[in-house]
Amino acid sequence: AVKKLQEIVMNPLQKNPFLSNPKAGRRQDRDHNERNHARRLEQEMQAERYKYKKLQNEKEEEISQLNDDITKLKRELELRRDDVEKLRKQLELRGSIDNVSLTSEELEDETKDRLESWVQIPTRNIRRGGWKRQFAVIAKNKLLLYNSERDQQAALSIDMEKLYHVRAVTQGDVIRVDATLIPKIFQVLYDSEGQTVVNSMTTSSLNAPAQDQIRGGSGENIEYKGHNFVVVAYRMPTNCETCNRPCYHLISPPPCLECTRCHVRCHKQHYDDKEEFIQPCRVNDKLSVKELLVMCSTEGEQKLWITKLSRKIPRRGIS
Ligand SMILES: [Zn+2]
Ligand SMILES: [Zn+2]
Repeated sequence: AVKKLQEIVMNPLQKNPFLSNPKAGRRQDRDHNERNHARRLEQEMQAERYKYKKLQNEKEEEISQLNDDITKLKRELELRRDDVEKLRKQLELRGSIDNVSLTSEELEDETKDRLESWVQIPTRNIRRGGWKRQFAVIAKNKLLLYNSERDQQAALSIDMEKLYHVRAVTQGDVIRVDATLIPKIFQVLYDSEGQTVVNSMTTSSLNAPAQDQIRGGSGENIEYKGHNFVVVAYRMPTNCETCNRPCYHLISPPPCLECTRCHVRCHKQHYDDKEEFIQPCRVNDKLSVKELLVMCSTEGEQKLWITKLSRKIPRRGIS
């Protein structure tokens, strides 16, 4: 054992496991390399992460750009659609002018008051400006509306006897309608009692007139023969239904009366003069009274329809 110990002391480099350890040195180097490697990897990963992040941002930007484009295109599509709709309407109107058949005076009495043309009436959704085409006919003391020229059965049939009132509308009557269409539209008030409606037509039940319908109304109500008259002043052309003379003036309109129920209008003067100026209100509290708006192709046609229909309405004015 002593000899062995001597050997170890004598030859320390050869055998001493604690002093001479070239392997350990190598391990240290390796650790160092690995650490470097790891650091490099981490740096590379960082770079990759950064690149990815950048790419992601770019793509996100692209997406939002594309979304903007989509919105723009949608908007354009909507505009184009409006244009198409406008053109379609124009085409329809032009077509209907060709369809207007006005009878001449030479024809016999039976057909003298006959009038037919394509018109439009509001769809259920008038708020959104919807109108639908109807073929309107005055025949045999009836106002008839057909869905198509070839239809045998009218979608709506109104007896002339049941007509209360026909007149041109003003912007106050049809608030949501484009002002340029107003001169083509007329309003019919009629009693729908006992009427059979084939298709569900768009005729609105009559409500009290909107406040803006009463132009210059003083808020004073006059109950007279069942009429509920309000004092109004017309600045747009309209006639007195008692004396048939104009009852409007652009600057200083004369005081007039309009019934909130049947919409009959006349000079207030007739009332003030205690004339027997008007027949009892026929719409008084009648729930069956309905309003129908009709849009013609042209202003001329509207006037023609109003004239023809007015002639058929049982007169209420006493003149
Ligand atoms: Zn009335
Ligand atoms: Zn008058």
